Amino acid sequence: MPKITEEVYYIPGQDEFMPDSHVYVVGNPSSQNLSLMDAGFVGKGSYKIQSIQKAGIELSAIKRIIMTHTHLDHIGCLAEILNQIPWAELWVHHLEADLLEQGDERSVYGMDMFRGLCQSQFGLKPGAFKFQVNRKLQGGETLDLGGTVWEVIHIPGHSMGSIGIYHRSMKILIPGDVVYADYAIGRFDLYGAEASQLKESLMRLGKIEVDILLPGHNRIVKGLPKGYILKTARQWESYLT
Ligand SMILES: [Zn+2]
Ligand SMILES: [Zn+2]
Repeated sequence: MPKITEEVYYIPGQDEFMPDSHVYVVGNPSSQNLSLMDAGFVGKGSYKIQSIQKAGIELSAIKRIIMTHTHLDHIGCLAEILNQIPWAELWVHHLEADLLEQGDERSVYGMDMFRGLCQSQFGLKPGAFKFQVNRKLQGGETLDLGGTVWEVIHIPGHSMGSIGIYHRSMKILIPGDVVYADYAIGRFDLYGAEASQLKESLMRLGKIEVDILLPGHNRIVKGLPKGYILKTARQWESYLT
């Protein structure tokens, strides 16, 4: 489990024929108050738990799982992970938290065709993604996560309740699937997505200074070029209307 800074560890997703999101472990390990950002795809929970243990972190130190959003490649193994750490709280933006609590899985699967495929391929039953959410985020909160301070930014467009968390002094951004390395952005054709919102979200992120970009997939970037997110937004602007 590579260390990005003293307070952020990285568990790379294990993509196979379906993508598996990265998980970031946030907080100073000595705080015994750690947070996981996202979970990953169906069946991808146990290696993540093992990675945490191999790094010498006690599972009891993990107090919560915060979802950047609730697509299947991020929430698929949430139940597996919660089985191992049943005390952990679940924090989700309220727009997707309400769906999870109602057992409305449209945001999890994104489209009906994908729901059918995954349910038959992975034996997922309807209602597999009904969860109680301990804290519903709005955006604008300041979170103290194990001795590190993060701002919650609501960045809809890829999904309605997408959030990023931002460490202002270290200039670290965990944006979920909103923006990636190599001028890529999240798709905007799934349930709850909205191209014009995605543009606004990218513009909002373009205003903050980011040095370390820790997206939900693909490579992470340290030493992000100045103006990178704004440049990405501009490149995609004509598609995002
Ligand atoms: Zn996504
Ligand atoms: Zn994803």
